[in-house]
Amino acid sequence: MIQLIRGFKDILPEESALWQHIENTARALFEDFGFREIHPPVLEKTELFKRSIGEDTDIVEKEMYTFADRNGDLITLRPEATASVVRSYIQHKMYAVDPIRKMYTIGPMFRRERPQKGRYRQFYQINAEVFGEASPYIDAQLIFMLVTLFSKLGVMDINAHINSLGCPECRPDFRKALSELLISRKEQLCEDCIRRSERNPLRVLDCKVPACREAVSEAPSIMDFLCPDCARHFDTVQAMLVKQGVRFELDKRLVRGLDYYTRTTFELQTGALGAQSAVAGGGRYDGLVKALGGPAHPAIGFAIGFDRLVEIVSQSQENLEKKPVIFIAALGEEGIQNGYIWANELCLAGVPTEADFSGKSLKSLMKRADRMGALFVLMVGESELKEGRVVLRDMKTKEQHAFPVDKLTETITNFLNR
Ligand code: AMP
Repeated sequence: MIQLIRGFKDILPEESALWQHIENTARALFEDFGFREIHPPVLEKTELFKRSIGEDTDIVEKEMYTFADRNGDLITLRPEATASVVRSYIQHKMYAVDPIRKMYTIGPMFRRERPQKGRYRQFYQINAEVFGEASPYIDAQLIFMLVTLFSKLGVMDINAHINSLGCPECRPDFRKALSELLISRKEQLCEDCIRRSERNPLRVLDCKVPACREAVSEAPSIMDFLCPDCARHFDTVQAMLVKQGVRFELDKRLVRGLDYYTRTTFELQTGALGAQSAVAGGGRYDGLVKALGGPAHPAIGFAIGFDRLVEIVSQSQENLEKKPVIFIAALGEEGIQNGYIWANELCLAGVPTEADFSGKSLKSLMKRADRMGALFVLMVGESELKEGRVVLRDMKTKEQHAFPVDKLTETITNFLNR
């Protein structure tokens, strides 16, 4: 038997109700905040991700699914969504009428990471991005919206970590100071971090290797390097979060994996997931639109790990799997024909209905109805039909009601709404 590829998984029908519930909650909330959905493709030119995420990142260095197309072009299954949304913003000149655009997108991402619980090679993200607005109020609002989504979903065990990465004005001084410290501690660092300490020292701050963590424990704080504009920006973000009761902690190690972040960065972490504690992350990327060939418009966004959010919500949510309201147990040819028509009518009337056309015995149909968790069974037998009636059985109370076949769909709908 052919099995699925390692690191990939099926989202099964019995899990889907929860995914839909989360997706619907996110959609409704984001739309209320003025976000509109965008669907970029899952395949893009490799160059897009190299230029936006950065050559020196884990994703680009070792995790991308990159292929040569039949004509030799290098294409990549998207490892994240922001680059595509930025490309689309530029390509369609979405800034032409009003530079401020708020968009969200939900879909699969692909990274060839080492598979483990909570880490897949195809995983899903819920992304939101705001373009064309540099105000710190947007940062605060985006974090507020993100945290609100979690509380709407009943997720309480959540910590917001925030940091500022400064801007091209002030970050170089911090980078230099950090790089100097790291080079002086070279013998302590892992192989990746030795390389990063010169090329991308900020990345060493979030290395998980204990010796590297130890080496950066005395690292300078970016807070001491922020220029007045960045400091003011970050102060306002924090003040607005405090004002609205969003609890957070300052985390000067939070640099996130991608190169394009500037100023505010944030991550939501939870204790509910074991080792993979990050459930959402994001930040400002004020230079990216320009770097990808667009106007110098600022932007900010976040990505929620959909699979991880499902895992957390499933720990407290009762089973949302949908069950039929009516199960039609159709008996005999005439019963099946009538049952078929009524099943379609009831489905169209918005009553979830399952009909069995197999012609099996009433006993085995009742068993199936029970297994499916149907609330009522409509018994459509030939002898009852001859008398112009059918019987509806309440599977919980075992009560039975006889209804005339004339206008049956209407009668049942009224009965259910009584
Ligand atoms: P990132 O784009 O790396 O900032 O990731 C944003 C969120 O996506 C993370 O906080 C995780 O919740 C989730 N995520 C990232 N990589 C994976 C993966 N391989 N499997 C499942 N979820 C992931």
